[in-house]
Amino acid sequence: ERLHLVAKLDVHAKESLLKPNPQLDNAISNSAKNGLPSITVSELQGQFLSIQCQLMNAKSVLEIGTLGGYSTIWFASTGAKVTSIEIDPKHRDVALENTKGLDVDIILGAALDVLPKLAEEGRKFDLVFIDADWNEQWEYFQWAVKLTRKNGCIYADNVVRETLESDPDVTGKESLFAKVGKDERVQATLVSTVNSHKQVDDDMYDGFILAVVKES
Ligand code: SAM
Repeated sequence: ERLHLVAKLDVHAKESLLKPNPQLDNAISNSAKNGLPSITVSELQGQFLSIQCQLMNAKSVLEIGTLGGYSTIWFASTGAKVTSIEIDPKHRDVALENTKGLDVDIILGAALDVLPKLAEEGRKFDLVFIDADWNEQWEYFQWAVKLTRKNGCIYADNVVRETLESDPDVTGKESLFAKVGKDERVQATLVSTVNSHKQVDDDMYDGFILAVVKES
């Protein structure tokens, strides 16, 4: 019952708050047509990330995990330059089609190969969005800290589902929250999210870790 109410409110918020954006709609349909999985951020999450960029006047965004470029479009539509990393050549090709006309650079490669190169080049970003391989979240996070300017921020997606699925009480592994909490270079919190896109069950609930980088 409660789940239904939350899902209903999410749909209502979505229908009320979103403005039409043909490029985003096209990205969703073209990605489906090309057989990409529908595992993008939700519309309201995309809007949230876009608002975050505008609030901090972000000029440069680094994204780890492009898929068909749906979240990339949300970032780039704010006027920020987006550098995005994608391991799958087909995903990258579709993303290139979907993001046409925007200031986007999609690097083909495994994130853990590409991130050290960006650091070597001395690149710094206003915002880093982590949305690739759940098993590598902590490695991505550490590179992200190095690649974020002072007082810039890092978002890591799916941290609630990832932590629940690899239940620290069962696996004995330290959670991402525990690791991030010990990192003196950042101040971090959990931004809980609901996505009624998914079926109405516990999987609807997820969240971002949001970290502000005090020193990188
Ligand atoms: N950010 C996208 C959005 O919201 O529209 C969704 C990204 S999807 C959840 C994850 C993507 O990360 C997939 O396209 C996958 O191929 C890519 N990926 C997985 N492992 C990767 C790795 N090690 N390096 C780079 N990309 C990776």
